[in-house]
Amino acid sequence: MVRTAVRRNGQYPDHKAIDDLVYSIHNEIKERPFNCAECDWSGQSITVLNEHVKTRHFGLKYPCEECEYVALTKRNIRFHRQEFEFQKYF
Ligand SMILES: [Zn+2]
Ligand SMILES: [Zn+2]
Repeated sequence: MVRTAVRRNGQYPDHKAIDDLVYSIHNEIKERPFNCAECDWSGQSITVLNEHVKTRHFGLKYPCEECEYVALTKRNIRFHRQEFEFQKYF
C-alpha cells in the first residue's frame, strides 16, 4: 500500500544543484559511476547501489513497493512511481 502521507508531504528541497554536482563526479569516476547520495560510497551498477542503500541506509530511504527499486530521495521515488503508474496504462 502506498502511504498517502508520503505523497501528501510532497514538498522536497531542490536537489537539482546537488544532482548536477554528483553527475559531474560521476563523469570523473567512470569505473564506479553510481554514487550514493548519502555517503561517499560508489558502485559499478545500479544493482549494487540499491544493495548498498538497502543494507546501509535502509529505513531512511524510499524503496518502491512494486519492484526492487530503492530511491535515495522523495523526489526520486515520486518520479519512479510516476513512471511505473504511467506504464500500467499500456
Ligand atoms: Zn551510502
Ligand atoms: Zn518500482
